Amino acid sequence: MSKTDQFKKVIAHAKEYGFVFPSSDIYDGLSAVYDYGQQGVLLKNNIRNYWWKSMVQLNENIVGLDAAIFMHPTTWKASGHVDAFNDPLIDNKDSKKRYRADVLIEDYIAKLEGKIEKEVTKAAKRFGDSFDREQFVSTNPRVVGYQEKASAISARMAKSLEAEDLADVKALIEELEIVCPFSGSKNWTDVKQFNLMFGTKLGASADHATDLYLRPETAQGIFVNFLNVQKSGRMKIPFGIAQTGKAFRNEIVARQFIFRMREFEQMEMQFFIPPGTQKEWYDHWKKTRLNWHLSLGMGEENYRFHNHEKLAHYADAACDIEFKFPFGFKELEGIHSRTDFDLGSHEKYAGKKLQYFDPERNESYTPYVLETSIGLDRMFLAVLSHSLQEEELEDGNSRTVLRLPAVLAPTQVAILPLVKKDGLPDIARDLVADLKWDYSTAYDEKDAVGRRYRRQDALGTPYCVTVDHQTLEDQTVTLRERDSMEQIRVATKELPQLLDAKLNLKNWLTNPKD
Ligand code: ATP
Repeated sequence: MSKTDQFKKVIAHAKEYGFVFPSSDIYDGLSAVYDYGQQGVLLKNNIRNYWWKSMVQLNENIVGLDAAIFMHPTTWKASGHVDAFNDPLIDNKDSKKRYRADVLIEDYIAKLEGKIEKEVTKAAKRFGDSFDREQFVSTNPRVVGYQEKASAISARMAKSLEAEDLADVKALIEELEIVCPFSGSKNWTDVKQFNLMFGTKLGASADHATDLYLRPETAQGIFVNFLNVQKSGRMKIPFGIAQTGKAFRNEIVARQFIFRMREFEQMEMQFFIPPGTQKEWYDHWKKTRLNWHLSLGMGEENYRFHNHEKLAHYADAACDIEFKFPFGFKELEGIHSRTDFDLGSHEKYAGKKLQYFDPERNESYTPYVLETSIGLDRMFLAVLSHSLQEEELEDGNSRTVLRLPAVLAPTQVAILPLVKKDGLPDIARDLVADLKWDYSTAYDEKDAVGRRYRRQDALGTPYCVTVDHQTLEDQTVTLRERDSMEQIRVATKELPQLLDAKLNLKNWLTNPKD
């Protein structure tokens, strides 16, 4: 199946099974805005919880916060968003389609990377077991050529964007002969900067209304509360403040489903540290966050770090954790060493000291900050797209299965009476009544049991419990596992223990997955 078809399948599956709907669907949707359905909201909550517990509950020195979406307008002056939260946009004059100039160039680089991968696959086939990937990519003239070209393009783009030399960004697009993906035309406008913040007004009277912005990131709510939390919580540096919540960006191009939305949710953590220790904490959080991803068992090969060449105005080091989405490796999470830029700037604009007295150093300073920032919706897409599989079965049939990490599944266990009579539904209902306190459960008695298994497979339910006539005799049930489709007979009273071993958070977050 092609990558495009695979992605289309993910979007169709998300709608058909109640995960994600276009916003205002009956009015034909709203561009790059989506609603989460009855299954989606559960998966989203579970991902948020998995993040929150691993960040806040398991770290003595990280606390939570829920700051408002509306913030004093000066916040965005101080943070640099009013002046610098821009993306370079370019229009194609023939198709009238609008693009992010940097994304057009990045897509060109991704094509070069695709060519490299093709060469590697060909060579791996040719050389068999003796193939040494590292040696091949560092010596094969064609691959080296592609790599050099990709690095040169990337470096030039970073330099031009840094210097705000938008004419050179356009020149690069023209030199590379990049065409509009829609029309194939090379007829481009100049590149312009476009501010991504949504404006709104606070107050009932038009004369006295204050201009506000919808927050484009949750981080600033944390910075402006730094002292409130530090003092009221008697926090000692190093410590972190974590927050999840909505953010809004008027994205220039938003056509990759929930990958790039105009209203989305972030899960961010700002870690306050002494100046000079940022390198050490940057490495620490890179490792910790990658391990969090790996704990879900979605394959080490699907993640990679990407270092930023063009650093944001606030950063002295930054990288992304990229994930292999159906449309290639793309940013899933950012890890940024933000220096004392934010606190320092708020100090200036607010005219209030945002300093910390460090008893160990016996001095006051403006703390440095290490940030981890992940999009909840992007994480949702990573999990959903990785999990959706079409599988050929031994009997010649096929099934659609959503191999969600069991700890995140919307329904953890479905209880199915084999038939709708002979008292089996009553036993099944009793089981639901018992298990639902600890697990998210579903009850289903409609259709043949095989069809019900298929439906639960498509919803990503990791375990099904079937109550049959034997249950009446010996209080045992069939426990069916989604991925292997293996069925074992277990005593009903052993179910809680068995499910706990498979689903408890400690096992997921502490055991390395293969
Ligand atoms: P991109 O380069 O993809 O525009 P970014 O570098 O601007 O992203 P950050 O400002 O670092 O993103 O935001 C942190 C995280 O928030 C990203 O890693 C991503 O997961 C998520 N995110 C950012 N913009 C969006 C969006 N428009 N829709 C969904 N998630 C987003």
